[in-house]
Amino acid sequence: MSTKYQLETIPVWDGIASQSECFICDLMQEAQKDSISFYLGSSVMNPETRVKVNTIGFCPQHTSILVQSGSPNSMAVMWESHFEETRKQLEKVLNELEHPKNVAKTARKLKEALDLREHGCLICDRMEERLNRYCFTIPYLWGQDMQFREAFAKSKGFCLPHMARIMELAPEALDAKTAKDFSCAMAELQKRSLERVAHDLWYMTEHYKSENRDKPWNGCEDAQKRAVYKEISHITTR
Ligand SMILES: [Zn+2]
Ligand SMILES: [Zn+2]
Repeated sequence: MSTKYQLETIPVWDGIASQSECFICDLMQEAQKDSISFYLGSSVMNPETRVKVNTIGFCPQHTSILVQSGSPNSMAVMWESHFEETRKQLEKVLNELEHPKNVAKTARKLKEALDLREHGCLICDRMEERLNRYCFTIPYLWGQDMQFREAFAKSKGFCLPHMARIMELAPEALDAKTAKDFSCAMAELQKRSLERVAHDLWYMTEHYKSENRDKPWNGCEDAQKRAVYKEISHITTR
């Protein structure tokens, strides 16, 4: 059977068994690392990639990660032509600033030119593609494989943004009846998972009270982080 997205069976199976609070976040961390290495590697010498880098470029967040990744040589090579393109795109508005007729209007144009330059991101795009493949594979496997259903129910669930993405893709991966069953299984899993994290967070706040100092942590010493990253994704794209 052909599917809309390429299936990512192995990473999804590994992830669901990993007992992470959101294994999609973990996979996205890897996806980001891979994309950063891709653009700092030899691929950027490929003329097609170079054109894309110069025209589409990267969002500020990923540009910042690229430059901090410890590859000054690759970054310099890649950025030389990108920088040139930015200068070219700003030339007109810089000339206007130099000879202003209406400062407010020119300032708006400058802002628009910069927004346009920061609009695209090759790394966000690559990550989004992978995210969709992972989030599609989850309901797909759930519909096909009873063992996966069991592993899904025993897992720690997902962060809220990734749960939302999985649910968006579920109707594309499953027939209507199975999609409803999956929706129900997801709700049960997530309710349980949110309750567990809420309890751990409560336990943590109790533990900070002086009378409870000597009690064991019961694995709740990082509950504040787990609660935060249950609500927001570890790794974001635009
Ligand atoms: Zn997540
Ligand atoms: Zn980006």
